[in-house]
Amino acid sequence: MTSRRLLLCTDLDRTLIPNGPHAEHPAARPLFKVFCQLPEVVLVYVTGRHPALVQQAIRDYALPQPNFAITDVGTQIYRVTPGPWQPLPGWEEAIADDWQGHSHAQLQAWLSPLTELRLQETDKQQPFKLSYYLSLDDNKQRVLPEIEDRLRQLGVKASVIWSIDAQENLGLIDVLPQNATKFHALQFLQQTLGYSPHEIVFAGDSGNDLPVLASAIPSVLVANASREIRQQAQELAAQNKQTQTLYLATQNASRLGGNYAAGILQGVWHFAPAFRDRLQLRKESP
Ligand SMILES: [Mg+2]
Repeated sequence: MTSRRLLLCTDLDRTLIPNGPHAEHPAARPLFKVFCQLPEVVLVYVTGRHPALVQQAIRDYALPQPNFAITDVGTQIYRVTPGPWQPLPGWEEAIADDWQGHSHAQLQAWLSPLTELRLQETDKQQPFKLSYYLSLDDNKQRVLPEIEDRLRQLGVKASVIWSIDAQENLGLIDVLPQNATKFHALQFLQQTLGYSPHEIVFAGDSGNDLPVLASAIPSVLVANASREIRQQAQELAAQNKQTQTLYLATQNASRLGGNYAAGILQGVWHFAPAFRDRLQLRKESP
């Protein structure tokens, strides 16, 4: 990338927010924050959180204010403004067709025979996001295809996304319109803002980040990601013939290590050489 502007997109939990078991270098987040203040950098949070929980994280972890927020795993896109955040026009319409006119309540009733599923709290639901807990003791290999089958019977085009809340030791399942993933939301935002793929860097750490990590969007997997995700990301990127646009952050590549914000900055170093002089990551190289 020689371009001197950057759409810097990052997941929050365990990617920018250091709320996993791994240590964070104390200089990593402050450096990230300074970097994001560059006028050429447009910052996007891409997260499973809903807006109030994003704002809480910004306060609790002293995160920079983003310019945009893709929340609720991709079902909402906001322009971040000092008052209430502004939904990006066109996105809800773009994803509504996938559910074939079925409401959240109708799909919830249709999936109710799957008794292993426990509905998440009301504030984690959205008109186009149906979210459940599944105990890690239950067999996700069996339950996920059952959800997919039932939705198919209804003609609903849905993505069924699995991730893990490591703090609570719980499985998370999000049923979303097929086009309402982090990946599609990011593509929509990119096209709306007129950025080309080589002007983007995305960072993530877990299951719902995989479609972006394995896409043509330049992406970094932070070093604190699990071995399982590292493997899946590499396999999926190979399947998609997109290994060139996947970078795995490592502990040794930078003086700040590769966990959380330090991993994101390593990704910027790797994909956006025009910004290297602003990164202060040098040991020898990054
Ligand atoms: Mg995460």
